[in-house]
Parts: sequence; C-alpha cells; structure tokens
Amino acid sequence: MSETEPTTTDAAELSRRPGRRRGRDDGKFGRYGGQYVPEALMPAIEELTDAYERYVLENEDGFMDEFRERLADFGGRPTPLQRAERLSERYDREVYLKREDLLHGGAHKLNNALGQVLLAKYMGKERIVAETGAGQHGTATAMAAAHLDVPCEIYMGERDINRQRPNVFRMKLNGAEVNPVTAGRGTLKEAISETMRDWATTVENTHYVIGSVVGPHPFPVMVRDFQAVISEEARAQSIEKTGDLPTDVVACAGGGSNTMGSFAAFVDDESVALHAIEAGGSTLEVDEEAGVAPNSASLFAGEEGVLHGARTKLLQDSDGQIMESHSVSSGLDYAGVGPELAYLVDEGRVTPVAVDDDDALEGFHRLSNTEGIIPALETAHAFGYLEEHAADLGERVVVTVSGRGDKDLDAAIEETDKRDVAGAPDMSMFTGGI
Ligand SMILES: *Cc1c(COP(=O)(O)O)cnc(C)c1O
Repeated sequence: MSETEPTTTDAAELSRRPGRRRGRDDGKFGRYGGQYVPEALMPAIEELTDAYERYVLENEDGFMDEFRERLADFGGRPTPLQRAERLSERYDREVYLKREDLLHGGAHKLNNALGQVLLAKYMGKERIVAETGAGQHGTATAMAAAHLDVPCEIYMGERDINRQRPNVFRMKLNGAEVNPVTAGRGTLKEAISETMRDWATTVENTHYVIGSVVGPHPFPVMVRDFQAVISEEARAQSIEKTGDLPTDVVACAGGGSNTMGSFAAFVDDESVALHAIEAGGSTLEVDEEAGVAPNSASLFAGEEGVLHGARTKLLQDSDGQIMESHSVSSGLDYAGVGPELAYLVDEGRVTPVAVDDDDALEGFHRLSNTEGIIPALETAHAFGYLEEHAADLGERVVVTVSGRGDKDLDAAIEETDKRDVAGAPDMSMFTGGI
C-alpha cells in the first residue's frame, strides 16, 4: 500500500488540500482562465469570488457541511465504487466504476447545481438563472432550486426545446420557468448570451448557475470544488477496497466538470495517470469553409482563444470564429473546455484522447450487456476508450460512469440503427419505423 496523505472526506480538512487552492487567487492556469467579461458583470464576479472564498474554501457558517449533508440526504451520496466483474476479466486488470449514474437525477450534474444554488442562498440571492442545451444542466438546476425553494428561470434555445421535450417537462414539473430563446440558431450558444444579458441587469438579487468548469473565474474552480466530491470519495473507496490508489482514472470530457471532479483529488498523486476522453464525433477532420467541426475534441484538436469569459482551448477557424461542434452525445457537444483541464493537458498531467461516435456506441452496448448498466452516451465514450486502450493502462482502473442512459434511449435506437454496432441487439423489431 502506498503511504499517502490521510484519507478524508471531511470538508474543512479537504479545503486545506493543496489541489483545492490551485487557481484560487486570479483564476489563471498558465495562459488559460481569467475573467473576460463586460464591465457591467465585474461587480457580480467580484461578489461571487468573495463568497466562494468564504463559504467554499473557508467553510464559513458551515456552508460545506450543509452542502455535504444535502448531497447525502437529497442526492444519495456517497455513490458506490463498484468492481466491474466482466470488464475486469475482459481487460485482464481491475476495473472499478464510480457510479455517478446513481446520483439523484441520474448524472454528476447535481453536485454542482446543488452547490451553486445553496451558495446563492448563503449570498442572499432570491432568484436563479441558468442556460441549458440538451436540458441536462437545466433539469439538475431546476431540481436543486425546487429542493432549496428558490425561484428558477432556465434559458433554452427554441430548437433545443423542441428536440428535448421530456427535459423541458422535467424542469417545469420542478417549478422552473423555461424561457425560449429564438435568436440565431436557437441553441446553447444563444441561450448563454441571453442568460448573460439577464444576469447583467439582475445581479443584485440573481445568481447565474454555470453548468461546467467553464466561464470566468471563479466558476471553473468553484464548479471543480463542488464536483471534487467524486474523486474524494473514489480515492478513499479505492484505498479501502484495494488497499491502494488506482493506477489510472478515466473520465469523459465535455466542458470538463466530470473530468475535473474525477481527477481533482488525484492530481497531486503522481502515480495516478489521468485520461480525459473527448467526443471524436464522426471524424477529427475539420471543414474550415463550412465552419463545422464534426467532433467536440477541443483538447485534442482545439486552439487557444477566448470563449464565455475565459481563455482556453477551442474549436475555431483561422479567423478565430467558434465552430459548430458535433457529437452523438449532446452533453459532450461543446466547442470549448475548462481552462484548468486545458492547462493540465499542456503540462502533461492529463492525457486527452478522442473516441469517435462508432466506438462510443459500441461502448454503450458493451457496458449495458456485460454489466447491466446502461450508460449515458457521454459516459459511453470512456468505455469506447477502454476497449481500444486497456492494454496501455495499469492494474487498477477507475472509470467514472458520469450518467445513466435512460435519457438517451431514443438517440441510441436511432444511432444504432444507422450502423453496424458490435454487440448491439437485433434492431429488426423496429422495422415498422423508428
Ligand atoms: C453533461 C454531461 C457530461 C459532460 O459535461 P462535463 O461538464 O464535461 O462534465 C458528461 N456526462 C454526462 C452524463 C453529462 O450529463
């Protein structure tokens, strides 16, 4: 057993860990990060930075204790670290699953939404706004806001609203208002601009819940700290179950909150290799003329630029225009990535790998039919990676199951029907049309 620091999930002790303080002062990670926001938002950003330092880092008024208690009672934490028996046999090494799919709501997103809505209450804010693309962050925020009894408005592109009816209904069931955004193409990008506009005029009484480790400081470090519960638990559970740290941690990356949450407690453990799995889409080739990247691999294929208030790695054309991204999984379909993750990749601490739609779909079917767990299509990328690269990994691999696949069943039927997927069930029962 490797003698490392004492294992703890105690909030006050954790906030003193060196990893926790990274990026705390100015939100800079090497060249990345920062606060590229309009002047009108600076007071709100400063107020939020102050609240983050007091309540999250210093546990003022017992904020982190209440957060932990609500994550347990409302969220169902801790989530298990489960040994995957068939996958361990298949890959000839120990494979453990960190089961964020079992968190309330079916994905890791609640960790962050609950943390931010609770922080908003401590700050005396009376209203929550958020934006959502496919609707996953919107539903997590609406759930947290209902739980904490704070009025909540979600901005969502009109096109996305029509594509994601069950999620829109979920948000409304939880009492949130859903505001359709008709500008531009009616998707996430426009919804973000609209939410920013709202926040700029309502900062006095409103908090903007950002859904990943992106945006201006302090959002990337704050969201990381709320999601870090994943790796804090996994680290303690690994030592308890195997007597040692894992050799590898594997997690899928969209904006990067699942990856940063899965990696945070391991970053200072040099023996633990960290693998960020991005959506390789249909191909890594980019059509510059059309302004389209048929993937969402911003760590792998992106270049430095500024998006949504931070300098980071982005999918952009030679004029610096943000490209439209693509992935079979809507949750990974984002043209940027969190600044800390971009930095850890440049430093060589995190290895990025792109897994394409086909391999992700095979991963989706493999985990479903070997382990009895239907993963989210985002998560499935991590299992596509394992199939190709398990032989390069060490003896004990932890894979974060960031979410469950119930939300993706229609997409999975459609995508499976389009191609020849190893291990997929016979699709001919759908010949009446899907
Ligand atoms: C949203 C989502 C992701 C990707 O977002 P990150 O910010 O990169 O975590 C991954 N998995 C699931 C299940 C999601 O819902």
